[in-house]
Amino acid sequence: MSIPDEIRQIVDFYDRYYDVAAKYELSRGRKIWLGKKENRICRFCGRNAEQTKFNTTAHAFPEFIGNKSLLSNYECDECNNFFSRTIEDNFDKFTSTERTFYNVDGKKGVPSIRSDDHKSRIEMTERGLRITSQENSSFVALDEVNKELTVKRKTPKFVPRLAYKCLVKMALSMMPEEDFECFKELVQWIMIRDFRGDKIEADSLLVQKSFTPVSRVVDHVAAMLFRRRDDNIYLPHFIFNLEFSNFTYCLALPFSKKDAHLQGKMTSYPSFPARLHGRIPSCNIVYTYLNLSKNEVVSDLEATVVVPLKAKQEA
Ligand SMILES: [Zn+2]
Repeated sequence: MSIPDEIRQIVDFYDRYYDVAAKYELSRGRKIWLGKKENRICRFCGRNAEQTKFNTTAHAFPEFIGNKSLLSNYECDECNNFFSRTIEDNFDKFTSTERTFYNVDGKKGVPSIRSDDHKSRIEMTERGLRITSQENSSFVALDEVNKELTVKRKTPKFVPRLAYKCLVKMALSMMPEEDFECFKELVQWIMIRDFRGDKIEADSLLVQKSFTPVSRVVDHVAAMLFRRRDDNIYLPHFIFNLEFSNFTYCLALPFSKKDAHLQGKMTSYPSFPARLHGRIPSCNIVYTYLNLSKNEVVSDLEATVVVPLKAKQEA
């Protein structure tokens, strides 16, 4: 199959301006440890094995996105616990509605979803979607012409900026040691103990997300970290691309020591294309820009998921 032009252009852009600093394609059962087991130092708090404990197995990416295999020697028990209670918990809430439909296997199993009034419920079982819906409920809408099911629900309360920091933490976990030095400020920022103490004014914490509407479970986790080749050009130093299930999240890492010449402005760059882009005929991949700058609890965000009921021609 030929590569669509828009994809070729994006690939050319990355070839020209970026190197791949790190890349992981995860598969179940094949564990990958980041960092050495000896003389461990936590990347986030900077303490060694005499100053803190390293007894818990730390996952470089949260388990709820389907990561069972990318593990980190760079993360102490205290930081691990802190991340799971704060930034990971917020990313979990932010993505929970969609993850249910795609059976993204988490530590606590697959979440089931209730409507806001708690009267309707939807869950993905081994035999497919099970829907228990009240009459006249706006929770689930069936489009019989297009054979699509649309589900709407309020996202559980969460802090967008903390969800953003979770993506940043994943990128920092897989970053090569020689680059990590440039991101001291970024580490301090994600380590702020209480989010209300984060006084950094930022209104452009952007993430480009893609969603590939397919009617099957996609068991897939992969990530790429791109490093700018020439430090004089006006592009971000690092770009992170995460794929799990049929979603991708792409963002430029803020606060690099080598981005001073950008003067706080994040210049535009094309998001890395979704893995299935151009590979499924008649499948419209949905790209959206999310602004996750808000540093307060958000309770009115609505998550909409469109599930195709009839399998289109899927690759
Ligand atoms: Zn630590």
